[in-house]
Amino acid sequence: MKILNSISQLQDQISFCPLCQKKNRRVSIQSNSVETKIVHCREKDNKIAMRVHADRESKSKAIAYDLDIHSIDFDFIYSNKPDACAPNLDFLLLGNCLEGHANAAGIFSLNTGNKKVENIFYNKETLRILDTYRISALYYNDMLLVSSLNDSKVRSFPLMDLDFTRPDKIVTKIKTLLLFS
Ligand SMILES: [Zn+2]
Repeated sequence: MKILNSISQLQDQISFCPLCQKKNRRVSIQSNSVETKIVHCREKDNKIAMRVHADRESKSKAIAYDLDIHSIDFDFIYSNKPDACAPNLDFLLLGNCLEGHANAAGIFSLNTGNKKVENIFYNKETLRILDTYRISALYYNDMLLVSSLNDSKVRSFPLMDLDFTRPDKIVTKIKTLLLFS
């Protein structure tokens, strides 16, 4: 489990492609709840200005947030009475490598009760290794899923350290794992 302390740390992980060895993933933010919709999101000067539409018990509320990605504190303005709003608003941070190598996902919650950013987790990343294998590192349960790109069968292993600067070595390691699985 990769637990992080700020949205900034999560952004660093999500944007970094281990195969490119640089921040080459485009990061986007999505609501992780059907009751909450992001109607506007803009990042500037380490702040995320986000307007959220939260729908709870058929009462709709528009809420403006001003998140500092380095802080766990945030402020918000309700356009309406807050009583019908969900106490926690859940979001997904997604990263897609511009070279098509990999994608990654993390989550965080905004607790509107104590005005803290909570539950910041780097959940998983999926990588294509030398156009041969697809691996998914599931950080939420420390598993590694492996499949061949021309075979849909997925095998699971305990999460292990892999040297992404040497994809050829990863292919060799995967072949050995599959041989003895
Ligand atoms: Zn990449």
